[in-house]
Amino acid sequence: MSRDSTSPPDPASITRAQALARLRHSLAEGGIENPALDARLLLLAALGISPAELVMRPEALLTEREAEILADFARRRLAREPVARILGEREFWGMPFRLSADTLVPRPDTETVIETALALLPDRQAPLRIVDFGTGSGAILTALLHELPRAWGIGVDLAEGAARMARENARANGVGDRASFVVGNWADCLKGPFELVVSNPPYIASEVVGTLDREVREHDPRLALDGGPDGLEPYRVLLGEADRLLAPDGLMVFEIGYDQGESVSHLAAASGLETLRLAHDLSGNTRCIALKRTRSHGRTFSVPAGDKD
Ligand code: GLN
Repeated sequence: MSRDSTSPPDPASITRAQALARLRHSLAEGGIENPALDARLLLLAALGISPAELVMRPEALLTEREAEILADFARRRLAREPVARILGEREFWGMPFRLSADTLVPRPDTETVIETALALLPDRQAPLRIVDFGTGSGAILTALLHELPRAWGIGVDLAEGAARMARENARANGVGDRASFVVGNWADCLKGPFELVVSNPPYIASEVVGTLDREVREHDPRLALDGGPDGLEPYRVLLGEADRLLAPDGLMVFEIGYDQGESVSHLAAASGLETLRLAHDLSGNTRCIALKRTRSHGRTFSVPAGDKD
């Protein structure tokens, strides 16, 4: 009755449960941080099955093809390729985002940017105009458009591969008709005004990039990490555009490095912006800054008559 009675069992063939246990063991031996979780995600992806299917049929044997794919995934993970890269997808704000070599893997920490922007917007039904600089996979813009049903947004990225992937992700997550994506150098190709300017720019100091975890250093695009000599260069550029880009009551909400709150706040003040909020991520690190124009600031500032000479 069983296929074992007609053909001898392939000594290499193993059950799903055995494959999972072996993979977990080899990832643990290889010093991978979350071996159990990673093994499970990789097994499900290699077999193309749901968690429920794994629970229901743990004794099913892997086909030769499945075993090959799983071995390839294991090899890549042991070489410190992140699970999200191997799967080509990562969840952010409850939505799936496909990844390419040009996109950063969206991090849970970046959800702080979404939470902060939403908390500071007075009316979620307003027809807001949003711009997302360095959009990458389009995660920030897509999540915002999902929460702001009457908003429209534009995502800018220097990498064409990122802009393309972001457009696909916005479409796949149901906001494609309210999102445009362009290849460009920061705001060079844009005119304001926008009610909301967001960005998770590269903010790692150039010389620190080489010291990051292998997962990040070898697999996230350098363009999305390297923020120049002190890591603050993108903020200087974006803050310098504030006057031109922001609507009168517009907000700027940026992701920042854990130790950059004070520096970015100072740079912002010099550009006529006040810090509304410094928000923390789930690990308690400063991760986000929200800014708006200071009342007295503006290009049309006129010198009172009495002050002349
Ligand atoms: N959060 C990323 C890291 O820790 C950096 C992302 C960025 O530079 N915007 O590696």
